[in-house]
Order: sequence, then structure tokens, then C-alpha cells
Amino acid sequence: MAEKTDFLLKCIDCGAGFFTVGEQDFYLSKGLETPKRCKPCRDKKKAGLKREKERVELEEVLSALPFMPIEKAEIPLNDSATSLFIIGNGFDIMHGVKSSYYNFRDSIGRKNILRFTLENYIRQEDVWGNFEDGLAYLDREMMLGTLDDWLDDFDVPDEDDDDFSAADYFAAQDIATSQIYILTQELPKRFRKWISTLKPLSLSKPVDNIIKMDARYINFNYTEFLETIYGVPQENILYIHGDRRDKKNQLVLGHGHDIEEVFEEWYQANKNRKEFQPRLLEKDRRYDHNDNPVYLGYFLKDETKGNWKSQMRYDAINNTVGLIEDYYENSAKKTSEVIIKNKSYFKSLEGIKNIVVIGHSLSKVDYPYFKEIIKYNTSSADLKWFISWYSSDGLRKITEFVSEMKIPNENVKLFRV
Ligand SMILES: [Zn+2]
Repeated sequence: MAEKTDFLLKCIDCGAGFFTVGEQDFYLSKGLETPKRCKPCRDKKKAGLKREKERVELEEVLSALPFMPIEKAEIPLNDSATSLFIIGNGFDIMHGVKSSYYNFRDSIGRKNILRFTLENYIRQEDVWGNFEDGLAYLDREMMLGTLDDWLDDFDVPDEDDDDFSAADYFAAQDIATSQIYILTQELPKRFRKWISTLKPLSLSKPVDNIIKMDARYINFNYTEFLETIYGVPQENILYIHGDRRDKKNQLVLGHGHDIEEVFEEWYQANKNRKEFQPRLLEKDRRYDHNDNPVYLGYFLKDETKGNWKSQMRYDAINNTVGLIEDYYENSAKKTSEVIIKNKSYFKSLEGIKNIVVIGHSLSKVDYPYFKEIIKYNTSSADLKWFISWYSSDGLRKITEFVSEMKIPNENVKLFRV
């Protein structure tokens, strides 16, 4: 009789023994076929199949695109004066800079109120995978729920009551909206601190053959690695979202959503929920007017009919709703301000003939800048675009971008770095 820890099988890949009696019992009970490989080899095979599937998918996507793929050495940049480079975060990452938002998360540490806020109060599955975008999804419900809990906990009576404590009353509101404070005050500080630590960990220069010293550059990164790695003079670079060496100005950060659209989407998705109806069935089987603060703050049509419980609660909910909506307004990326500030710069790009995009995600939030470049260009229909790509998701974004910018397909060439 085999011991419980004896191996019954040999892996066909590595020859190691595996499969114990316990495992065999499990497989038999589930009616599963006996495995041929040990667990590590099964995982390895699975990962290999996954990679192969991804490679095939990528080739399919690429061959279906109407854009010609070229080698980076084929980018014709004889005339630096008519060449514009657009540099995104992929540029820093290809130089070994740990500048993804996952790196930002790791720099914050596990037990941190900013991290807690981002991971619990932003209604996105993976807030770090789509960081700036997520800032448009602060959770109204959680915040108003907190307000209600604290008003209850402090047992806040009406203002003319002898037991009324203004301190408790305002503390409840402060606690409920503390996430806003963290996102508007703490986040920019932490973010700048992290950005200031970034450095390239690789000495290679993957785009050495295409970088031209006297061309012009719009750098979406906050870092100066174009200067320090390639020697591009500072005066040829526009740090469009800020330069980390410039301590006087804020780094530009934020989502690119129309906040009214985001609100409408949320409103439509929630208005039919049971908890946001005017009357709710109570435990004693009687109907009562809804006093859920989210209902009162957002879904109630006639506020004189609402079950506010007290004037103080009415004021607290109104104040909190106001602060939440202010947050939404302020968390948007100030793209139009940046454009106004750099109007003469965009005008000065009128004679550009070639645009090389390196490591830029071409997210919608940055479309207005590209539109500005095209708008002022004297021969925009002839503009040649050379765009670097990295993944199938990147290829999809390029396709969307080209169509949105109305760029003729034959003017777009793709290259890998
Ligand atoms: Zn094996």
C-alpha cells in the first residue's frame, strides 16, 4: 500500500515524481483524467500556450490594420525643422523607469490612507490600471452613507436643541468628505514625491537612431530623460503636463471625462434601484418616505416632500453633495487651460511635416492636444504620422485615434521599439 506522500506518477516533461494518493482520490472523486505533467510543468505549458495565443492574436490584429508597419530605421527624418516628437510614458518605461501607476501604488505602501481611499472609494475594478480615468468615479454613495452613520453616531439634534454640538455636526461632515481632502491634497503631494524619485534603470538607448537633437518635442512625462539620456536641449522640449524640476507649478493630473456625462451615466444606472424610490417598505410592512441621503441628495424631485428628518440633516446632506460635485469639477484634467497657456506654441507647429509618437497611449484625455496640432498645421492632410506600438490594446487605441483625428490611413506608419 502506498504511503500518503508517495508519488504515483512521473512527469512526462521533467521526469519528477508527482501525484499522491490524496490527489488520486480527489481526481477519481471528480471523474477527472489522470494528469501527465507535474504542477510546475502544467503551469509552464499553460503559460506557453497563452503566450502563443497572444502572439497569434497580435499578428491577426496587426495584419487587419490599414496602416503599414515599418522598421524604426525607415522613419525618414532628414529635416529636423519639420519634425515633431510626441513622448509618452512608454518612453520612460522602455528606459527602465518604474513609472507605471502600479509602481506608484507600491511606493505608497499597504497601510496608507491614500491607497485605502483610492482602492475603496473609486468605483473602478482596477484603479491602478487606469489611474487618472478612475478619478472620475468617486463613490457618492459611500460618502453620503458615511455622513449618515456619523450624524447618527453623534446623535446630532436640531440647532435650537440644548444638546446641539456644532463640533459634532461639522465633524460628521468632515469625516464623510475626508476622501475628497485626501484626493485633492494628499494625492498631488504623494504623486510629486513619487515622480521625484523616478530614474532610468537601463543604460540602453532604444530610440537613439531616431531621436534628433534639433527637432521639437512635446513631452507628456514629468521627467527630463530626453535631456539626460539623449542630450536633447531643454529649449526644444515642451513639458506639457509639467516638469518635475519646476517646484513652483503643479504637475497636471486628472481624468478626461465630461463630468455631466459621468453623472448622467451614474444617475441612469441607479435611479430604478429599490433603495432610491420615494417610498420604501419598512420592516413592519408599512410604506415610509425614503430618507436615504443618496436618494434625498440626488433622486428626490421635490425637496419639500423629502423625509429629511431635520433641518440640520438637510443642510449636512446638501453641503456634502455640493463638496462631492465640486470634487468632480476639480478632478478633471485642465486640458483646455494647458492649451490656452500654450496657444502660441501650438501655432508655431504650423510647418511640421512629420510627427513621431513614441510610447504614448493616445488616450482620449489627450485628444484635444492632437486636435490643436492638426488645427494649426498648414498642410495637415499631408502630415505623416509614425506611431510606436507595444500591445494589441495599443493598436486598438491607434486605430481609434486615427479615425477620430480624421488622419488618412496611408499617412500612418507603425513601428515597434
Ligand atoms: Zn514536470
